[in-house]
Parts: sequence; structure tokens; C-alpha cells
Amino acid sequence: MEYIRENVAAIRRQIAEAAYKVGRDPKEISLCAATKMNDAEAVRAAIAADVDCCGENRVQELVAKEAQNAYQGSPVHFIGHLQTNKVRQVVGQVDLIQSVDRLRLLEAIEQEAARQNICQRILLEVNIAAEASKSGFTPAEALEISGKMSSYPHIKLRGLMAIPPISRFPGENCRFFQEMCNLFVDIRRKKYDNVDMMQLSMGMSDDFADAIACGSNMIRIGTAIFGPRNYHPD
Ligand SMILES: *Cc1c(COP(=O)(O)O)cnc(C)c1O
Repeated sequence: MEYIRENVAAIRRQIAEAAYKVGRDPKEISLCAATKMNDAEAVRAAIAADVDCCGENRVQELVAKEAQNAYQGSPVHFIGHLQTNKVRQVVGQVDLIQSVDRLRLLEAIEQEAARQNICQRILLEVNIAAEASKSGFTPAEALEISGKMSSYPHIKLRGLMAIPPISRFPGENCRFFQEMCNLFVDIRRKKYDNVDMMQLSMGMSDDFADAIACGSNMIRIGTAIFGPRNYHPD
């Protein structure tokens, strides 16, 4: 799996280039390997290549790869759509749930974290392009919920996450990234209780340089590390 090591090294160089261009320190930017549909061996290769964390989309894959010790040596994040009936398999098992996209899920996570007597770190997912096909809060909702985090004592809000539309041209998603950054800074300035705005998770294989230019400090990369995913295996 030499190609994975080479791909991660190439992405690190591109992160550095994008960061320096806007006067940022590349060390501020975490590289999260989006591991969906990639097996334990590929995950281990990415961790050996020194990604900062692994992000899993599906509970079933998370559980299977955990059983294989695939994530050893790396923090694990949940980055996919999480059904409330699967919250028990994720809360307390991952360092960060990036994809809290509705109030009902926030409440289910609080309930489960309370049951386990732990504090679960989360990000609020913002549907920044207001796409009907995607879940997530509006910016106004995210702001409002941030102000009410003291009602969720077993959760710590650590930042925001967004998945804008697929970028076909460089610069296409800049306005969404910029809006996210403004919202992130707004919430951080309010110094709300139980809110510690550390992570602005945005940017994928096709648009991470633009996301970094607009203030992202966590990019989630799948294809550029592992190659194209085979959605239709025969
Ligand atoms: C798959 C996925 C990514 C990575 O997408 P690529 O375009 O393959 O880099 C990032 N974030 C989330 C939430 C994903 O599901």
C-alpha cells in the first residue's frame, strides 16, 4: 500500500502550499482520512502515513474495523449520517462526532452520554448551501443551538462541519467556506457556556485548498488518499 503513503505525503505538501499562500501555519490544519469503503489494511496504511485522525461514515463499518483494531494509534471520528437508534454504538466509542445534523440527534447523544456518564465531543453540521438532499442546520439554527449548549451537560461543542456541493472548478465553494468561517468566528466570539470552538471541519479531495484559504483547520480526505471508491462491486 505504498501508494497510500505517497498520496498522504502529496496531500501534506498541498496543505502546506495552500496554508503558506494565505500566511497560515500548515500545522494548524488536521488531515482526517475519510475511510468509508476502505478496509482495515488501507486504514492502517493511512495511519502509518501519519494522518491525524480517521473519519468513518457508517456505524457498521466503524464497528467492524474497530473489531479488527484498524484504528490503533489514531483518533476516530464519526462523519456520516447517524440514525438515533445507532447512537449507542457510537457515543463513547469515537473522539468526535462531526455530523450532528439535527436536534433529535443532539438529544439522543446527550441521553446516551449521560447514561455512560461521559462527555461526548461533537461538531454541528451546517447545510451551508441549503441543499434539499442534505441534512444539517441552517447557520441561524447552529448559532441558536450554540447558545443553548449548557442544556447538554454531557456534550461539548467543539466546532462546525460542512459538506458543500461537489466542486467542479477551483474557487467554486469559496463563498460557502467563507460563510462557514464567519459563522465559526461569530460563535467563538460569544464565548457561550460549554462551547469550545476549536475545529472548523471543511474541505474534501476536490476543494481542500480553497477550504484552507478560507480558514478550515480540518480537511476530510477520502479519494485523494485511497483512490476512487468502488460503489458498485460486481
Ligand atoms: C466521503 C467523505 C469525505 C471525503 O470525500 P472525498 O471526496 O473522497 O475526499 C469527506 N467528508 C465526508 C462526510 C464524507 O462522507
